[in-house]
Amino acid sequence: MNPLKLDKFREFSELRVGGRIFFVLFSVRASVQISRLSGYDRGAHAVAWIKGIWDMQDPTTHRDRLRHTDYVEQTIHFRCNLSCQHCMILDSMHWLEPADDGQFEGLLEEQRIKKSWRSLILTGSEVTLRSDLSELVRRAIDAGFEFVRIQTHGMRLSSESYCRELVDAGVKEFFVSVTAGQESLHDSITRVPGSFRKTLKGLENLTKFPDVRTLTNTVVTSLSYRSLPSVVELLKGLSNLTEMHFWAYWPMSPTDELSLCIPHPIAADYLKEAIRLARSYGRFVEVKNFPQCLLGRYADALCNDQPELRIDPRFWKEFHENGFHQCVYKTVCASKQCLGINTAYGNRFGWHEDLLKPYSVQEFESLGGNHD
Ligand code: SF4
Repeated sequence: MNPLKLDKFREFSELRVGGRIFFVLFSVRASVQISRLSGYDRGAHAVAWIKGIWDMQDPTTHRDRLRHTDYVEQTIHFRCNLSCQHCMILDSMHWLEPADDGQFEGLLEEQRIKKSWRSLILTGSEVTLRSDLSELVRRAIDAGFEFVRIQTHGMRLSSESYCRELVDAGVKEFFVSVTAGQESLHDSITRVPGSFRKTLKGLENLTKFPDVRTLTNTVVTSLSYRSLPSVVELLKGLSNLTEMHFWAYWPMSPTDELSLCIPHPIAADYLKEAIRLARSYGRFVEVKNFPQCLLGRYADALCNDQPELRIDPRFWKEFHENGFHQCVYKTVCASKQCLGINTAYGNRFGWHEDLLKPYSVQEFESLGGNHD
C-alpha cells in the first residue's frame, strides 16, 4: 500500500471515525490479494493480511517501522563467546575499543539536548556479556531514547528471566543472528555446539513479551546460502518476528582468504526464495551487499542504509579494505542503493559484466524499496 494512503487511514482510525468501515473495505482488498496467491502461500498470507488490516499495517512493508536515521548505534563491548566463521571483526575484536563510560554518557547527553534519535542500538561483539547491560539500557531511556535495540547471538536470551530483565529496562527490539536453518550447520558456523538450541530458545522466549519486536540476520556465505529458505521456514512460527535480514558476506580484506564468498548468481536463487517466503509470512526483508540487478523481482529488498555508527575510528580503515561500490556499470546505473561488487569477490569470481544490468532512473524509481 502507498504509505501516504496508509498514513491517512491510520489517522482516520486514530480519530475513531469509521474504523470498521475501513476494515470491511480492506477485507475486500485482502480477499483479492489472497485469491491471487498459490495455495501454498494462501494460509500464511491470509493471517498476515488480516492482522495487517486490523493493525492498519501493510504486512510486507511494515511502514510503521522506524527509519535507519531514527537510530544511533553505539559499540559497548568487543568480546564474544561464539566464534562465527564469517564474523567481520573476528580478528579485530581483541584490539577494538568499545565506548568507555565517558563516551557513553556523552552520547546520552547529546540525546538529552538535541533529541536526534528515537532509539539506541547497543552493539559490538556480544553485548549480553556485559553484566551491566540492563543498567546501560535504563540510562538510555532516562536520557530520552524511546527504546533500545540490542544486537546479539541470542544465547543468553534462553533464560526467560534475563529476557524480562532487559525488556523491563527498555529493550524493545532484539536483532538476533541466526546463521543457518539447521542445528548442525549453525553450530559448525558458530563453532560452539549447543548454540543453535540456545538461540532458538531465546527467540521463543521473546514471543512471551507482546511489546517486543524481533529481527533476525543471516549472513550469506558459501556455508549458509543453501540454508536461507530453511531459516525462514524455521522461524515462521515466531509471532513477534517482524524483519529478516540477509547480508552477503564481506571479508574486510581485498582477498577472500576464508573462501566464504559464494558466486552471486548461485546465491541469488536461494536468496530470492528466502525473500519470497519471508514476505509470504508477513515479514519485512532487508538484503545488504548484493548486486541489486541480480535480485530480479525482489530488487526492492536491497537496502544498504545503516544507522549512524559510533565505533572505534580504527574500524573504518579495515572496513574500507572491502572496496565497495565497484561495478563496471557504476557510471551509468541509477541505483542509489547498490554497493556493486567488492574487491575480494571481484578478484575471485570476476565482475559479471555479462550478467549485471544497470538501472535507468525510471526503473530504479519504480522499485520503491526500503530507502530512508
Ligand atoms: S549494474 Fe547497477 S544494480 Fe547492477 S550491480 Fe552494478 S550498480 Fe548494482
